Amino acid sequence: MQLNIDLTGRNVLVTGTDTSARQAVRRYQAAGAVVHRLTSPHDAGPDAGGQGTLLPGQLFLVAAVEDGQPGWSAFLGRCRQAGLPVAAEPAAGPAGNVTLVGGGPGTGDLLTVAAVKALRDADVVFYDRLAPYQELPLLTSAELVDVGKKPGHHKVSQADIEKLMVESALAGNNVVRLKGGDPYVFGRGGEEVAACVSAGVKVQVVSGVTSAISVPAAAGIPVTHREVSHMFTVVSGHAPLTEQEHHHLAGLGGTIVVLMGIGTLHQLAAGLRRAGMRPDTPMAVVERGYRPGQRTTIADLGTITSAAAGCSNPAVLVIGEVVRVAEANRNHAGEAVDLDRLAASLLGS
Ligand code: SAH
Repeated sequence: MQLNIDLTGRNVLVTGTDTSARQAVRRYQAAGAVVHRLTSPHDAGPDAGGQGTLLPGQLFLVAAVEDGQPGWSAFLGRCRQAGLPVAAEPAAGPAGNVTLVGGGPGTGDLLTVAAVKALRDADVVFYDRLAPYQELPLLTSAELVDVGKKPGHHKVSQADIEKLMVESALAGNNVVRLKGGDPYVFGRGGEEVAACVSAGVKVQVVSGVTSAISVPAAAGIPVTHREVSHMFTVVSGHAPLTEQEHHHLAGLGGTIVVLMGIGTLHQLAAGLRRAGMRPDTPMAVVERGYRPGQRTTIADLGTITSAAAGCSNPAVLVIGEVVRVAEANRNHAGEAVDLDRLAASLLGS
């Protein structure tokens, strides 16, 4: 959380222990304030300005961090009586902790309340490009570290991410690891938890809205629908499936949702057809859900490979009759469909 007020040159008194007030101090400094500190109510002299020579009239605002020390209320009461506004500020998150946070599919609107709170309380955020990273400066005063890409466009390796997180927490930071979607859905969340546990670092996980459900929804596709599909299977397309897996999937009869599936789309479509799935089974490719340039391509199992030739990651594939539900509902609501593209894809051109 950043303050969206310009406090350039204003004297602000931030009360609270150094540990609890560290993020509030950062926020007020970032807003341009000249920050004065009062760490204990016992140091609050009878002059409501608190420290030393500052008089109430010279202060613009008191930022009162909720640090749990008894005794602040008398001091803050005196400030208010002297006509000083008092802003309540949350205490910083615990030092030396890691929180894995699911960031949803890439829009700040689909962050959970717990995610917003964890970001607000963080000292350092290690984020991926699939998380809603553009909105981070509004949500936190933490140091932001992009571990999805380095300047040379190389990803930071998983081992290095784990090392960075653990070292930062051991140095006393409250660390947030912000990931796209949900940390436990193809997100390596389990490995990151294990790395923290084995280093003796306290770790918790905040679930996120997974793209497996929310990205189809962005295109109007419900992953289940009464009398159409009563199950959905979420599959990684990172590597091609085995012939046995194709048979299992084809035999299930429900909705198949594939993440990271653009690179193996051809093998998947061919494999499911070999396993007996009908070529007219409807399919959708939803690219860049909730982001600029969101696009839905609809075809069927027999035509998808050519229809989706121009599609790129990130994208979610949906296979099954629920795709038709979206088509039917789209007449009433939801995104506009590109009719030329739809016609072209149905014709297999
Ligand atoms: N943990 C994540 C998934 C990580 S795997 C989750 O629960 O959503 C990365 C894959 O997620 C991408 O290849 C793509 O298939 C999918 N994905 C994530 N965000 C997406 C978005 N905004 N639009 C389309 N696909 C997305």
